[in-house]
Amino acid sequence: MECFFFDLFIVHLRHKIFIKMNLHEYQGKSILNSFGVATQRGIVVDKAEDAVAAAKKLTEETGTGWYVVKAQIHAGGRGKGQVEETGSNGVVLAKGIDHVEEKVKGILGGHLVTAQTNGKGKKVNKVLIAEDVYYPGASQPSEFYMSVLLDREKGRNIIMYSTEGGMDIEHVAETTPHLIFKEEIDPRVGLQAFQSRKIAFNLGLSGEAFKQMTKFVTALYAAYEGCDASMFEINPVLKTSDDKIIAVDAKVTLDDNALFRHKDYAEMRDKTEEDPMDVEASEAGLNYVKLDGNVACMVNGAGLAMATMDIIKLSGGNPANFLDVGGTADAERVQKAFGLILKDPNVKAILINIFGGIVRCDRVAQGVVDAYKAMGNIPVPIIVRLQGTNAEEAKKLIDESGLNVHSAVLLQEAADKVKEVLA
Ligand code: GDP
Ligand code: MN
Repeated sequence: MECFFFDLFIVHLRHKIFIKMNLHEYQGKSILNSFGVATQRGIVVDKAEDAVAAAKKLTEETGTGWYVVKAQIHAGGRGKGQVEETGSNGVVLAKGIDHVEEKVKGILGGHLVTAQTNGKGKKVNKVLIAEDVYYPGASQPSEFYMSVLLDREKGRNIIMYSTEGGMDIEHVAETTPHLIFKEEIDPRVGLQAFQSRKIAFNLGLSGEAFKQMTKFVTALYAAYEGCDASMFEINPVLKTSDDKIIAVDAKVTLDDNALFRHKDYAEMRDKTEEDPMDVEASEAGLNYVKLDGNVACMVNGAGLAMATMDIIKLSGGNPANFLDVGGTADAERVQKAFGLILKDPNVKAILINIFGGIVRCDRVAQGVVDAYKAMGNIPVPIIVRLQGTNAEEAKKLIDESGLNVHSAVLLQEAADKVKEVLA
């Protein structure tokens, strides 16, 4: 059977299931620092009253008296973005301590709209007060682009870098693709010294800056592996007028499948930045991806979920979601899944497709019936297809429940019932 949703599924899976945890800039920088990567220094605050004290403390460490105030949200393009309430940009320079509080007030608590947010923007709950690293009065520093990520086709990590830093890399890729370089890392030997030298060379560096860049690249790659990241994007990497190489920005995404071995990183998760539906799903242990269709599905196993989405499509409907309830579909989980599905006003029917292997079908059926009763009134028809261990008992349970639930044993029957209820 042709699989309509394969591409879509993979895209969503990549973004929402495998590489879920994004960090704020200040958190990303603290991880980078712990691996010896030099960054622009800063102190994060969540109250405007704390801004001046933070700036003073920073000056004691850095010696510089100018600052940049940076909105902390999970979206890039902050520098060019605008705070809806005040018109301030999301990254602004404060030329002296007297300006810090006023700049912070222009950003904190407002909604920052950038090219990477929706029209409503994202509420700014924290700002980073950072040292101004562009050394006013000195010769023009250079901004580079650098990211580390997995090249899925090659099955290897790559370091992607460019002389055109500080701007949107998609724009660079469109207009001057020859200025983007890629260095592939052989996992058997890791990043080699000649590779960091090649990167520094391609970035046009020499002397002390060349040496600093090789150090930077080496530390950055060690950090990427050491923290189980799935992506680093440092834009810009700055060469200061005195030839230091530092990360001015840090977009860090961690592989949440590896968080079990990084309890301290797990605590960095900021749920206020995530889609509330996603948070609810992940707290219930459900893999849920919202789609735009009208038939919701609830399935155990990712492969079966894809097949189910195809069935919905073949029946003339469109899947409203991807939802894998996992191996233990008990009443509580089924109920949570119903709750999620029903928040979507487009849903006209629900198709539950469970293969009873480890989990017995009658247990799931009981879960469905219990959840249904507990929820009071579910306003849309439900088609339940249970196959495998104790499927017969399960069908009986559903048929005798007296609820607006249709049961099916074969996938074809389930498809026909979907067609029926949509008609
Ligand atoms: P983004 O817009 O979300 O990518 O945020 P960045 O952290 O990259 O900051 C945006 C821009 O602000 C950078 O590209 C720099 O040009 C500028 N910027 C960042 N830090 C400093 C600084 O210390 N001094 C000055 N003058 N500009 C800075
Ligand atoms: Mn940036």
